[in-house]
Amino acid sequence: MAVKVASSWINGASVETSGETHQIIDPATGKSVSEYNLATAADVDTAVAAARAAFPAWAGATPAERSAVLAKLAKLADEHAEQFVAEEVSQTGKPVRLATEFDVPGSVDNIDFFAGAARHLEGKATAEYSGDHTSSIRREAVGVVATITPWNYPLQMAVWKVIPALAAGCAVVIKPAEITPLTTLTLARLASEAGLPDGVFNVVTGSGAEVGTALAGHRDVDVVTFTGSTAVGRKVMASAAVHGHRTQLELGGKAPFVVFSDADLDAAVQGAVAGALINTGQDCTAATRAIVARELYDDFVAGVAEVMGKIVVGDPHDPDTDLGPLISYAHRDKVAGMVARAPQQGGRVVTGGEAPDLPGAFYRPTLIADVDESSEVYRDEIFGPVLTVRSFTDDDDALRQANDTEYGLAASAWTRDVYRAQRASREINAGCVWINDHIPIISEMPHGGVGASGFGKDMSDYSFEEYLTIKHVMSDITGVAEKEWHRTIFNKR
Ligand code: NAP
Repeated sequence: MAVKVASSWINGASVETSGETHQIIDPATGKSVSEYNLATAADVDTAVAAARAAFPAWAGATPAERSAVLAKLAKLADEHAEQFVAEEVSQTGKPVRLATEFDVPGSVDNIDFFAGAARHLEGKATAEYSGDHTSSIRREAVGVVATITPWNYPLQMAVWKVIPALAAGCAVVIKPAEITPLTTLTLARLASEAGLPDGVFNVVTGSGAEVGTALAGHRDVDVVTFTGSTAVGRKVMASAAVHGHRTQLELGGKAPFVVFSDADLDAAVQGAVAGALINTGQDCTAATRAIVARELYDDFVAGVAEVMGKIVVGDPHDPDTDLGPLISYAHRDKVAGMVARAPQQGGRVVTGGEAPDLPGAFYRPTLIADVDESSEVYRDEIFGPVLTVRSFTDDDDALRQANDTEYGLAASAWTRDVYRAQRASREINAGCVWINDHIPIISEMPHGGVGASGFGKDMSDYSFEEYLTIKHVMSDITGVAEKEWHRTIFNKR
């Protein structure tokens, strides 16, 4: 029987909201694991009001006080790692090894990083830039942050959005994806336990159509941050624009994976499989477009097909499982449909291309070679365990193909030639370019894209730009009543 869980977390407490009952489905079995009541637009009003009321005191806390709460939260999150893993695996179907070694420790490290970063916000040096004034910079918390997150990495995406905002002194209202609210609710409860004042971190669960729209377009928030698809991100931006609210958008991706002729072929093959299959390919930075030097093409395709053929698909709770299900049957059908149409558009399915005989929303690792540049699988986000491959003739052609996309989130270049590596990192349009690797992220470095992948940064000190305003304070140091510059305005005195 499905376990009833708290609906929302508002003003430091669990709240039973009055929306309809929603079942959280384990995509590995198709069975309900828990249920909760959805929030409504009225609950968004309550949560925003709680955040607004809590904001001044939290913004006024010293950096050391904010840091202490976040450090305690990092410790509590680490102590609750097993609970986070269990919730994440049951609501997303991601393999337990990924949740244990990537999602949860990465989230704890991120909280830990911001506990430190909260104490050293920097700005331009205070100085007498005009000669007659002392100019200084104040970096002030922007206010109430509304944030909306997706289902693929529910805990990490919540952490990336909420924690830097809290470190900066903001109050937050977050709406996780309706199908994956569990770890976000646990995070909020632990933040309270860590000493975060009531109302500073609120969670409203519910659908994008009702709760998401109400939150993104709320008059009383100051910033709207979003992680999700490009199509919805643009709607969120339009909702926020009604009140002129600033936005930060982390959107879709279609990462190129460029293998130059001098690359270490084995490393590129291993990297392509890992980069394409992470989180069952439901990763915005996943390698999706392998662009391979003609000389290496056949060996690359054969190598990737061989490694993909050994991937263990199955029960995500089993530590030996490599690939879990997709998030839902509907999403699996979308992925299967795109792969099924690929041969009509010139693609050759080398391996995979089918669902295994398992009850959940599984799909086999799939490699599609010889794809046409105009084909759907090459241009659109598939968000499944599918890698496409094309060849290139020379370096100019490789970089042209890498940039032949509206997205610009992540990319990788595989080469042993330092000049090629430098050129690729310079010329590929993306928020991150890896050299001889694909996927690793670290708390100290920013994540965020360009073009249809959005703008603004998560992680690292750079993310503070989203949550702080910069105020210039300019103080006269002359004490002179009739200032020299006044003559520009009224000359005859
Ligand atoms: P999505 O469909 O865009 O949904 C994202 C969030 O927006 C969900 O919480 C959703 O709510 C909500 N939402 C839907 N319609 C809304 C509206 N009109 N107004 C306000 N909120 C609304 O994305 P997804 O399918 O969950 O996630 C996959 C996408 O996220 C992929 O495109 C992936 O590339 C992207 N992503 C990007 C990054 C990055 O850092 N760039 C990271 C992870 C994922 P409900 O689902 O509850 O209805």
